[in-house]
Amino acid sequence: MFVSENLSVNEKGNLTIGGVDTIDLVNQYGTPLYVLDKDLIRKNCKKFVKSINKHYDGNGLVCYASKALSCKEIYRIMKDEGLGVDTVSIGEMYTALSVGFPAEKIYFHGNNKADEELKFALENKIGRIVVDNLQELKRLSELAVKLGVVASIMLRVKPGIDAHTHDFIRTGQIDSKFGFAIETNEALEAAKCVVDSKNINLVGAHCHIGSQILDVDPFMLAAEVMIDYINDVKNSTSVTMSELNLGGGFGIKYTSNDDPVDYENYMEPVSEVLNKKCSDYGIKTPFIVIEPGRSLIGPAGITLYKVGARKEIPNIRTYISVDGGMTDNPRYALYKSKYDALVANKANLEKTDVVTIAGKCCESGDLIGENIKLQHAEAGDIIAICATGAYNYSMSSNYNRILKPPIVMVSGGKSRVVVKRETLKDLVRNDI
Ligand SMILES: *Cc1c(COP(=O)(O)O)cnc(C)c1O
Repeated sequence: MFVSENLSVNEKGNLTIGGVDTIDLVNQYGTPLYVLDKDLIRKNCKKFVKSINKHYDGNGLVCYASKALSCKEIYRIMKDEGLGVDTVSIGEMYTALSVGFPAEKIYFHGNNKADEELKFALENKIGRIVVDNLQELKRLSELAVKLGVVASIMLRVKPGIDAHTHDFIRTGQIDSKFGFAIETNEALEAAKCVVDSKNINLVGAHCHIGSQILDVDPFMLAAEVMIDYINDVKNSTSVTMSELNLGGGFGIKYTSNDDPVDYENYMEPVSEVLNKKCSDYGIKTPFIVIEPGRSLIGPAGITLYKVGARKEIPNIRTYISVDGGMTDNPRYALYKSKYDALVANKANLEKTDVVTIAGKCCESGDLIGENIKLQHAEAGDIIAICATGAYNYSMSSNYNRILKPPIVMVSGGKSRVVVKRETLKDLVRNDI
C-alpha cells in the first residue's frame, strides 16, 4: 500500500512514519515539513555494510554520497554507523568535519575543484581526492609540494557504461563532464601523468555509472571494465592500484513501478566478478568503495504540505496547490521525477482522484507531479509526498524568497528538529 516500509496508517486514519503520526508532527512543527526516519536510515546503512562484510570479506567501505542530503545530523549518523562520506565541495567537507567526522574516511569529488578547496582538503588530511582532470592534477601536485604533504588520490574514470533504471549501454559515454575516458586511452595516459607527478600517491580508480539503477548487471560490468583498467595501469606503469570505487546510483522505490535489487545481496555478484577477474590477472583484489546516496536516505523521508486550494478545470485537470513546491523539491521541474503521494489525514481512504500537485511559486512549471493518484483532497488537508529524503532539502532554494522548511527526525517513536525552519531574518542576513 505504501512505497516505503516505514509508512503505515493508524487507528485515526492518519499516515504514520516510523510509528509517529504525521498529523501530530504537522500540529507541532507546521508545514511544509521534511520528516526523516533515523531508524530506517540506520537500517539501510547496515544493509550495505553487511553486503560487503558477507560477500567481500569486509574488504571495503560504504561511503554515503552526501550531496543527497548534507546537514550535521546526517554526518553524525554516518559516523556512528562507521561509514565514510563522499563530498563534492568545501561546504560538504566543512559540515562533515564540524561534527568530528574522521577526515581519513572523507572522499573529495568534483570536476572543478577550486585551489581553496584542494588546499582545504590537504590541510585537513581528507582521505582521498578523486582527481577529475590533468589541470587539477597539476594544481594539486603544486599545492602538495608547497604544503609538504603527499596527496592520496583516485582517478575519476569514465568506464563507457551509462546506466539508468533498467537500461544501460556499453559505450558512448565519453561525453560526460566527469573524468577520464577509458576508450580513448585518456585514462591510461592520466595514470602515467600521476606517476610522474610530485607528492601524489595513486591509490585507485573511481567510476560512477548513473543514478536510480535498479539492477546489479551494470555494476558487474563496471567492475569488469575497471579491473581491466587497473591491470592496464599496472602493465604500463608498474603501479598496482589497491582501491576501486564503484560509485553510487542504487535505485529506490519512488513509486510502485520501481523494484530495486535488495542492497544486502548487492555485493555477491559483484564480488564474483572482482574475484574472478583479479585471479585471472594475478592481481590482489582491491579494497572496494561504494557510494550510495539516495538509497540510504531517500525512502526514509517524506515531505508534508498543507493544501491551500483545489482548482478543477473541467476536462483538463485538477490542481491541488500546496504551501511548498519547487523551492523544497525541484526534482519534477528538473527531471519530471515521479513520486507517490497521499492525503496524510485520509490515509485509510481509497485514492479516487487523479490530480496535479502544484507549488506556490510564480512559475507554471512549479509542480510536484502530474497524474498523481490521490484521495479526495480539499483545502486544509495534509499531503504527504513519499521517498523525498534524498535530493530535496539538498536541492532546495529560496526562490520567491520562500523560507526553507525544517527537517524533523523521528526515531523510536519520538521526534526532534535537526534543521531549523528558516526565518525572515535568515533571508536578509547577507543583504547589504
Ligand atoms: C551522485 C553520486 C553518487 C550517489 O548517487 P545516488 O544515486 O544518490 O546513489 C555517488 N557517487 C558520485 C560520484 C556521485 O556523483
